[in-house]
Amino acid sequence: MPEWHAEKVLCDTRWDGSIPVQLTPILQYYGLEWHFVKMRQHGVIITLGKRPIIFLNEDLPMTASRFRAAHELGHWILHSSRIGSNCPFSIGDEYEANRFAAALLCPKALFTEALQELQDGNVNFYDIASRFNVGKAVIVNCAEEIAGV
Ligand SMILES: [Zn+2]
Repeated sequence: MPEWHAEKVLCDTRWDGSIPVQLTPILQYYGLEWHFVKMRQHGVIITLGKRPIIFLNEDLPMTASRFRAAHELGHWILHSSRIGSNCPFSIGDEYEANRFAAALLCPKALFTEALQELQDGNVNFYDIASRFNVGKAVIVNCAEEIAGV
């Protein structure tokens, strides 16, 4: 379960429980380097020798680049044996990396609280997206995943 791995990452990296989740200390914990470059894709993870490096598209808005960095971290955590191999990521791998990223950026307990506020009509989707610093689509996906709404 990608969500289980995301929770384990938050735990292992001593996430302080605040949102938006800060990715810098998490990427550093796993020894991941990242660089913003001009590129066609949103992001990619490669290994140079044993060193994992994430390249992110410098033209992406902050929310998208956060999601993409978390997605590439998901590949590192879940599919590291395939990075730099001749076996490219499958569609299933991409789906798992997306679920990992969503769960990492929208930790379940806080997200469930936010959904309750949404249900009570106190906040809207945009408020929640800005609270977690993710795109609105991520919020919708997380809501489907967690609450089945
Ligand atoms: Zn991917």
